[in-house]
Amino acid sequence: MKRVLITGAAGFLGSHLCDRFIKEGYHVIGMDNLLTGDLVNIEHLFPLAEFEFYYHDITKFIHIPGDLDYILHFASPASPIDYLKMPIQTLKVGALGTHNVMGVAKAKNARVLVASTSEVYGDPLVHPQTEDYWGNVNPIGPRGCYDEAKRFLEAITTAYNTFHGVETRMIRIFNTYGPRMRVNDGRVLPAFFSQAIRGEGLTVFGDGSQTRAFCYVDDLVEGIYRLLLSDYDGPVNIGNPDEISILDFAKEVIAMVGNPDAHIVHKGLPKDDPKVRQPNITLAKKVLGWEPKVSRAEGMRRSYEYFKKVVKVEAEAV
Ligand code: UDP
Repeated sequence: MKRVLITGAAGFLGSHLCDRFIKEGYHVIGMDNLLTGDLVNIEHLFPLAEFEFYYHDITKFIHIPGDLDYILHFASPASPIDYLKMPIQTLKVGALGTHNVMGVAKAKNARVLVASTSEVYGDPLVHPQTEDYWGNVNPIGPRGCYDEAKRFLEAITTAYNTFHGVETRMIRIFNTYGPRMRVNDGRVLPAFFSQAIRGEGLTVFGDGSQTRAFCYVDDLVEGIYRLLLSDYDGPVNIGNPDEISILDFAKEVIAMVGNPDAHIVHKGLPKDDPKVRQPNITLAKKVLGWEPKVSRAEGMRRSYEYFKKVVKVEAEAV
């Protein structure tokens, strides 16, 4: 049985990766310090013999008994309000945490896939973004702690590959959504769904003309799985190129939820909020034979089912 370590295992993406690798017949070692993760996301895996969980902060030395074949490094605060609240932890997990992960990969002779992000492109001057674009990042702006941590992650991953010969894979993740996103993580989709379900104002930042392109989590996980097993060691964009303005997105959510009290309210645009974002996925198609399969309509329908349950549960708990 192949053994895989997943950091950030209790998070949104980490928990879906745990499910996928269990399903593929791996022994999964999940690691998380629960800073932004939630054990609810993986509690169904605890009875399984092929799943282990380590409560650990990866900015400290990581000890894993036994062999490892693969590492998926997904630990990090990942929503803008989280990394605004926790800028130092965000920098530490991207820098010290990734260094420790690389040390484990080298010691165990394991292949490591690291989670980078479309944020390495900053507020991009090239649109859609291709992997050869170096980005437009403000290192001292509010997003700098995340963007620069992830740029460092790419740099140290590359250094371990070239200097120590560690087998590395790098994914640049674009906006991804689906069940298990935290209702209050501040990202646009949980915010809009919870506001629409409660019949509140949907908080559109600025005039809402900024764009994003949303990828359903199952498509992303498939891309990660293929990238890990591929021979390609450069950064690869994985995302859904179906671009939409945030204002139109708010209207779609209102139409789907159908609560007559839901409406749009405009709030100030956060500093350095990227004006556009859309992945160019030509490389992923070529090297992984991957492209997204779940349309926004379908992915939103599945997400709505989830948010209906969790927003209701929260309301009952009050
Ligand atoms: N946004 C918004 N209202 C919200 C939350 C986010 O209008 O309540 C906007 C935000 O300004 C950005 C986009 O939605 O332009 C996506 O924001 P998110 O926090 O999901 O992630 P980002 O893509 O900015 O990292």
